Amino acid sequence: MATTVVNPATAQAVAQIPRTSAEETDAAIENAQRAFEEWRRVAPADRGRLLRRFAEAVDADREELARLEVVNSGHTVANARWEAGNVRDVLNYYSAAPERLFGRQIPVPGGVDLTFKEPLGVVGVIVPWNFPMPIAGWGFAPALAAGNTVVLKPAELTPLTALRLGELARQAGLPEHVFTVLPGQGAVVGDRFVSNPHVRKVVFTGSTEVGKQIMAGCAKQVKRLTLELGGKSANIVFADADVERAAASAPMSVFDNAGQDCCARSRILVERSVYDRFLELLEQAVKAVRVEDPALASSEMGPLISAQHRERVASYVPEGAPVAFRGSCPDGPGYWYPPTVLAPIGPDDRAFREEIFGPVVAVVPFDDEAGAIRAANDSEYGLSGSIWTRDVGRALRVARAIDSGNLSVNSHSSVRYWTPFGGFKQSGLGRELGPDAPDAFTDVKNVFIATEG
Ligand code: NAD
Repeated sequence: MATTVVNPATAQAVAQIPRTSAEETDAAIENAQRAFEEWRRVAPADRGRLLRRFAEAVDADREELARLEVVNSGHTVANARWEAGNVRDVLNYYSAAPERLFGRQIPVPGGVDLTFKEPLGVVGVIVPWNFPMPIAGWGFAPALAAGNTVVLKPAELTPLTALRLGELARQAGLPEHVFTVLPGQGAVVGDRFVSNPHVRKVVFTGSTEVGKQIMAGCAKQVKRLTLELGGKSANIVFADADVERAAASAPMSVFDNAGQDCCARSRILVERSVYDRFLELLEQAVKAVRVEDPALASSEMGPLISAQHRERVASYVPEGAPVAFRGSCPDGPGYWYPPTVLAPIGPDDRAFREEIFGPVVAVVPFDDEAGAIRAANDSEYGLSGSIWTRDVGRALRVARAIDSGNLSVNSHSSVRYWTPFGGFKQSGLGRELGPDAPDAFTDVKNVFIATEG
């Protein structure tokens, strides 16, 4: 069986990718398990050097990786170049980790006590279709650095860049079976990562619904697990903010990657006294978003990933929905959907509560700080969010009060590889990135050595 990979900007088939079977997945896991015994023994400096060579190979191949992501995922070429660069940077960042996986020496009576950070074994990384390159790298780079071997399953719709990264790893000199990319179905390949006992940890990024199934499956073997799930993040604009900047930056905080971003600020909460002014400015900014062929350097937003996904997104904007204004998008083939702003909208509206994962945003007024915090927290999700204010005390107060893993003040930054990333509540479990990520791919071993008689 094979999957037909389709260019979402043209609806044309671009490749046929064979699907890995359950038996082939098990064989790859067994190979990875054998390779682990050698990989864990590679001297730390050599492991670091190999990861830097992998980063160099990614850098040299950046244009090709970006081209593949444009045709496979409909990402704008500017974004796709950044994404390939992110894989390189994350590999470089964690290439320093093998030489710094420090344990501790703990004072105890009668001897010496040491801790070691031991690698887990085979790590299974399951990637969604929305950011195929970066999300893969956030899993495999720290896992490899900590001495694990990795099997990785890209999303069925978007396997091309992951397959290329697998080739680049081999070209860079990573030993065979240390990093293996297995394209295929979630219910087959992904399921074996969960059920095969030789996989010691699963890193899953995807929907909350599938994440819960994976968590239940991992529980049967007490398998380590990191979950990066959905979001419905708030962008809070206080009246004392630079309202022009807040409005100018709001569109790309939700329409970037056509809204197919777990960190999308898809609920804009605006203090009532500046609500009308904000909407006026937002309309100009939304209408200026360039939705066009993602291969063009000027493109700011491409198509949605598939016809089926476009249908799902459109279901949140039925006939008679409160559309305040919209941007434009190309006609014709491809899964295009225009940037869409919903207002006024009630707090119980489906479009205000559920993750749409498309270029649709709701704008709602609030009356005071407490009301803004209440509205922001009125969600099962808690992944990211933005706070716009010139009052530094309020910025910190509100940031501390919001139940969310990643907040930014007067900015929409979410994922920076130097800092921890992950969700509160049903947005996830555990953290990726930042200085501590390799620890999530180790178990602590405590060794006591008696020094007395
Ligand atoms: P999805 O849950 O449908 O699929 C994600 C991955 O899981 C795919 O590779 C899929 O093949 C695999 N999968 C599906 N069923 C499986 C099963 N039973 N066992 C094992 N693997 C299985 O999600 P999606 O539609 O690809 O991605 C969109 C979702 O991902 C959104 O909810 C989004 O918010 C979330 N996401 C979260 C983050 C984050 O960091 N928190 C980042 C990106 C995307």
